[in-house]
Amino acid sequence: MTPYKAPLRDMRFQMNEVFDYPAHYARLSNGADATPDIVDAILEGAAELSEDILAPLNLSGDREGCQFKDGVVSTPAGFKEAYAQFVAGGWQGLSFPTEYGGQGLPVSVSVFKSEMMGTANWSFNMYPGLSIGCINTILRYGTEAQKSQYLPPLVSGKWTGTMCLTEAQCGSDLAQIRAKAEPQADGSYRVTGTKVFISSGEHDLTENIIHIVLARLPGAPAGTRGISLFIVPKVTVNADGSLGERNAVTCGHIEHKMGIRASATAVLNFDNAAGSMIGEPNKGLEAMFTFMNTARIGTAIQGIAHAEASFQCALPYAQERRSMRALSGKKEPEQAADALIWHADVRRMLLTQKAIAEGGRGMIYRAAQLADKMFDAAKEGEPAKYEELENRLGFYTPILKGFLTEMGIEAANLGMQVFGGHGYIQENGMEQIARDARIATLYEGTTGIQALDLLGRKVLLGTKGQCVRDFTATMWRFSRKHLFAAGRVGNMARTLARRATQWNLLTTRIMLRASKDRELVGSASFDYLMYSGYVMMAYFWALQAAKAAELSANGQGKESKDFYQSKIQTAAFYFERLLPRADGHRSAALAPTWSVMQVDKDHFAFK
Ligand SMILES: Cc1cc2nc3c(=O)[nH]c(=O)nc-3n(C[C@H](O)[C@H](O)[C@H](O)COP(=O)(O)OP(=O)(O)OC[C@H]3O[C@@H](n4cnc5c(N)ncnc54)[C@H](O)[C@@H]3O)c2cc1C
Repeated sequence: MTPYKAPLRDMRFQMNEVFDYPAHYARLSNGADATPDIVDAILEGAAELSEDILAPLNLSGDREGCQFKDGVVSTPAGFKEAYAQFVAGGWQGLSFPTEYGGQGLPVSVSVFKSEMMGTANWSFNMYPGLSIGCINTILRYGTEAQKSQYLPPLVSGKWTGTMCLTEAQCGSDLAQIRAKAEPQADGSYRVTGTKVFISSGEHDLTENIIHIVLARLPGAPAGTRGISLFIVPKVTVNADGSLGERNAVTCGHIEHKMGIRASATAVLNFDNAAGSMIGEPNKGLEAMFTFMNTARIGTAIQGIAHAEASFQCALPYAQERRSMRALSGKKEPEQAADALIWHADVRRMLLTQKAIAEGGRGMIYRAAQLADKMFDAAKEGEPAKYEELENRLGFYTPILKGFLTEMGIEAANLGMQVFGGHGYIQENGMEQIARDARIATLYEGTTGIQALDLLGRKVLLGTKGQCVRDFTATMWRFSRKHLFAAGRVGNMARTLARRATQWNLLTTRIMLRASKDRELVGSASFDYLMYSGYVMMAYFWALQAAKAAELSANGQGKESKDFYQSKIQTAAFYFERLLPRADGHRSAALAPTWSVMQVDKDHFAFK
């Protein structure tokens, strides 16, 4: 298997030249320390950890998996030592406040780190990754006592955290949650219930695990308005932060999974476990969803991580493996056959992977800038600005999570395809990437749920199409600037202008039809999400191409001419070969509902 190499050249091109992160950081109240030198040193350090420590454990971690015995979960060989190095490097605290031991850097710095760590070893990345949601929840809703009790060890990575939402009967529909919390005379609570599929719910990496649990108070209203949020530690924590008794939280078993097998997915039994409420009673779901946008961007990264990993392995294979001759004549006459990379269909696969990884990276880097500004507004006490940014990020989130994870699976499968039959064989690692990628469209809200969130909640109900008008206005601004540019960038600008108009028209037509046929939102939502993803990615490819053309022409870029040329060519491939798929999704989104709804529920199959 090709060893992982962090794609630092592309990361730097996008950060510094396309999205101008140095200027962005200079405008943030916590950006002073994120100087180009410091950010670059962080990139180098995260790349080293990912390449040298985490990537070598990826295959062995998959083979060995996590083990469960007598309630104890052991992570695969090498994970403990790797986690200790992660903690020693201060990686968990990069973007958390200095008062709790973090380094106070903008959130995006953590995004760059997570991309590299996750591409090297997604299973490993899940342990510190889940802590982020837990830390953010305590930071935002915890009392001062809860913050000082739990945050320092979570921020340092000494402890990890979880998010316990799902129960056997409900994952998407949290209104059905049954876990209960009984108030105690001393103001604490006793939590009882079973949570399933809890990532990092039990493991041997840390001495304590802090669970954030959704449960109902006695007499709470039914549905989502009766859910509260609780902190339940695996080992109780004394007021001074020292460890107390083992709490009544036990791991019933861990799941045997298709992929990310080194990440422990636990069934957790809470049996009158001691906990404390976090936030207001019955407002737990609202609190949980505050950070859903950032958590979902974390999962969107998984799409590009697996695309990148699979591409990095497929490319050298296609350069070395030989099969037949190129259709236009021998390319390597001294060899028995030409390399796979000479064949147009293999190039199609490689370029699709590259386009997904690098186009998706652009989408995530822009969303990360919005997240930086949003956290800054919260810190600076600017609620109106915070809300505006949260809404903007809220529009990106389902598209990034839904579209990029679907595309990540395609890219991972294409990597296997480039390897031919060898892609199906374990030793080559390609089938592991495809298995690991598969979960990303399921957890943190399935693609179906992302699609409903986008079309139903954000586009139609929430803004009556305004969020699409806002984003397409950005596309038009780009188009106007480059409309008459020579060559490919001009073509892209004109295509984008057409797509911007089309996206708004599509939205309006769905809005009008949905007012007469309520099933339309559900029947159109997946195709609408995919259409939006393809068009949004086109914009981010055009941005990269335009910048590459500009820097190549004026000679002021940090990269080589070949690098810029390859960017423009990959963008052109995207516009010609992948963007047209949007038309199929548009037609399907506009199709009347009858073809999906007319089949009688008993007529799907006849035995
Ligand atoms: C490996 C792994 C790790 C996980 N980690 C965590 C974790 O750390 N914490 C946690 O709390 N949970 C976790 N989960 C749970 C995960 O978030 C849920 O499995 C997921 O949200 C889907 O819920 P479900 O499995 O109940 O599927 P369901 O909700 O039953 O959905 C089944 C199908 O129906 C569709 N569907 C459901 N409702 C609708 C609707 N109204 N309209 C249209 N379609 C609909 C869905 O899109 C899906 O295709 C994890 C799961 C796995 C497998």
